[in-house]
Amino acid sequence: MKRVIGKINPKDRHVTIWGAGFSGLILGYYLKDMGYRITIYERSNKVGGKLGTKKVSGSYVEKAANALFLNADSLELLKELKLEPLPASKKLKRLLMFHGKPKKPFQIGVLTRISMNAHKKPPLITDGLTVAEFFRPLLGDDYIDRFLSPVLAGIYATPAEQLHFKSIFEDFGNMAQFDSYWNFIKIMYRSNKAKPKTELSGSVSFEGGMQTLINRLAEILKSEIKLNYKEPFRMKGNTIICTDAITAGDLLKELRPELSVELKRVRYQELSSATVFLKRDIKSLQKSFGVLIPFESGFHSIGVINNKAIFPTNSQNVSSYTFISRKKLGLEEIQEDLKLLSSDITPEDIDHSEISHWDNGLPVYDLQRYLSVKKLHQLAAKEEHLAIFGNFAAGISLREMITAAKNFVVNPDQYPDIY
Ligand SMILES: Cc1cc2nc3c(=O)[nH]c(=O)nc-3n(C[C@H](O)[C@H](O)[C@H](O)COP(=O)(O)OP(=O)(O)OC[C@H]3O[C@@H](n4cnc5c(N)ncnc54)[C@H](O)[C@@H]3O)c2cc1C
Repeated sequence: MKRVIGKINPKDRHVTIWGAGFSGLILGYYLKDMGYRITIYERSNKVGGKLGTKKVSGSYVEKAANALFLNADSLELLKELKLEPLPASKKLKRLLMFHGKPKKPFQIGVLTRISMNAHKKPPLITDGLTVAEFFRPLLGDDYIDRFLSPVLAGIYATPAEQLHFKSIFEDFGNMAQFDSYWNFIKIMYRSNKAKPKTELSGSVSFEGGMQTLINRLAEILKSEIKLNYKEPFRMKGNTIICTDAITAGDLLKELRPELSVELKRVRYQELSSATVFLKRDIKSLQKSFGVLIPFESGFHSIGVINNKAIFPTNSQNVSSYTFISRKKLGLEEIQEDLKLLSSDITPEDIDHSEISHWDNGLPVYDLQRYLSVKKLHQLAAKEEHLAIFGNFAAGISLREMITAAKNFVVNPDQYPDIY
């Protein structure tokens, strides 16, 4: 799978990377490991980009990602970095807000609907197909809104109506038609089973939070990273841009106008992440990862993460919950959501809160992103010394970026073309 846009010339052993977020750090790490000399220019005064952990009264607050979902490559990376993964607690419930209450997602209504409609033939898989369109005959509009959309929004922060089927279910992108939903479920099950088993799976963090991973990469790349770098963008020798697509578009405006226009077509979802320390637990979320919340259900948030339950050693027995929202959250909105979650929690129960907000929080995995990334690959095919890497092209989560960066450095001039 082609994940990095463009290529670099391996005969030139120096590479300049723009951006020291996770994408820049991980690509820098693998390139250095392959013997390249690298320089990483970072505009801000710190590494990690959106990722970062703050210590608040003995407990940790994650700004963005709270965990790394493991795959074989990420597990191998942690071994190379000599980092001890902190596995998420086992046997936690995953909850979904149903009729104003956190419940298990597979409610009897959903299961009945699936078994009633699983014999149906799903729509033909075309370039334009959305996730909602694919699943509508199986689930109906009501369960797409109440079940499928919030579950997928836990990763993509985007409703199923906008999510692009081939981008989300990549393993099935080459299949044109399933005989029935049973057939789809069977193939999905088999494809998951066929994935290499690792000795540790699921979500992990680290003692000290995700900052520990960032710090370790930054330590290895210390002499290569230039912080507070404010010089204008230039392309001299091998250059890799590791920012969001909009910023990459700005950087390339003069030098590569066609690439710039296409990069700026990728849409981003505004996001807030607000961690709240409470004087007591939210009862309905006990022993759970937290709860996913359907869009348009009266909440400001689309999900609440139960930090103490997931990584107890990083929470020091403090009740802390992270609210993720598609709009700017303030204390007032958090209080309103808390009230909807639990009527017995009052504003006086809030001890402290930490809010992060991004206009360009996550790329929207819609048809436009798919078409733009496809076009960018075509436009960049003629580039010899320029590559672009980030979660809009490599996959939205950290593990996908690890795999993409690792694969790229092996043959950075002949990256396999599937587009
Ligand atoms: C709320 C939230 C929760 C998330 N949860 C998870 C999760 O649980 N698990 C998971 O796997 N993923 C998660 N993600 C996704 C993951 O955090 C992101 O994909 C990842 O952090 C993005 O890294 P990046 O390097 O692509 O971008 P960024 O983090 O945006 O980094 C870009 C860097 O480029 C720098 N830069 C910008 N302009 C310039 C310039 N002109 N010159 C030099 N440098 C520049 C910026 O300062 C920044 O440091 C989450 C994301 C969010 C927002």
